[in-house]
Amino acid sequence: MSDRRRDGHRQEGAAFRVRGLVQGVGFRPTVWRLARAHGLTGEVLNDGEGVLIRAWGSADALDQFAVTLGREPPPLARIDAIERHPLHGEPPEDFLIGESCAGAVRTGIVADAATCTQCLADVADAANRRHRYPFNNCTHCGPRLSIVRAIPYDRATTSMAEFAMCPECAAEYGDPADRRFHAQPVACPRCGPRVWLETRDGSELPAAAGRDAVAMAVAAVREGAIVAIKGIGGFHLACDATSAAAVAELRRRKQRYAKPFALMARDLAMVEAFARVSALERSALTAPSAPIVVLERT
Ligand SMILES: [Zn+2]
Ligand SMILES: [Zn+2]
Repeated sequence: MSDRRRDGHRQEGAAFRVRGLVQGVGFRPTVWRLARAHGLTGEVLNDGEGVLIRAWGSADALDQFAVTLGREPPPLARIDAIERHPLHGEPPEDFLIGESCAGAVRTGIVADAATCTQCLADVADAANRRHRYPFNNCTHCGPRLSIVRAIPYDRATTSMAEFAMCPECAAEYGDPADRRFHAQPVACPRCGPRVWLETRDGSELPAAAGRDAVAMAVAAVREGAIVAIKGIGGFHLACDATSAAAVAELRRRKQRYAKPFALMARDLAMVEAFARVSALERSALTAPSAPIVVLERT
């Protein structure tokens, strides 16, 4: 242990190696916040093995920091192990988020997570700059594994690399108090991927009469059409599940005459109009992983 004094207190140094699913889940901002709350200085960075923290502070503060980190990781993270080693060297003045280091890869990336309630609220809010923006996301939700090309997980190693952040998104990305702090896929209508609608021969249908591509696709589904929605992880074929004719046509095109299709619903209330939902099933349906759940029909 290094033994230095800062503000009259004995300073110790410790390196924490955190293993598990710890990249792309807001781990570095969480560490940054906790470290500052405990009066630590040092740095946190992603590398090929997970997250590396170098911290200096009183022995008590370091202990409390380690306990809190293990107990309150960010929502999408999964900590498999925290290893602690003594650290020598001069304590820095501040606690910083360091650049990621490449290296031998022994860490994982979390799965994509369903849009969180705060991001859904942005999309529904006519005054929000992400109103009706389908690619809204933050540190606690959105794409991860589907957009990763390499580790460490940083925007430059994802399929978002070609979308340069606009000043507003960059400000959110750089603000430790913002829930998009270091959210790699941060995007908005100005700088991120856009959505459009095209016919089966590939010609783009222009947005018309105040209706954007999503509104036009909704109208088409209501009229019995089958649409292919290119999402973050691939194509979804979608039609009105309450239209026997549309479902029959989808089965014919897919040559899938008996296997069930997955249904999508706006919210739990809509699900419960068609199926019985137990407490366990409800928690699964509303989890960040938003899995397909087999339910009993009412
Ligand atoms: Zn979110
Ligand atoms: Zn932007």
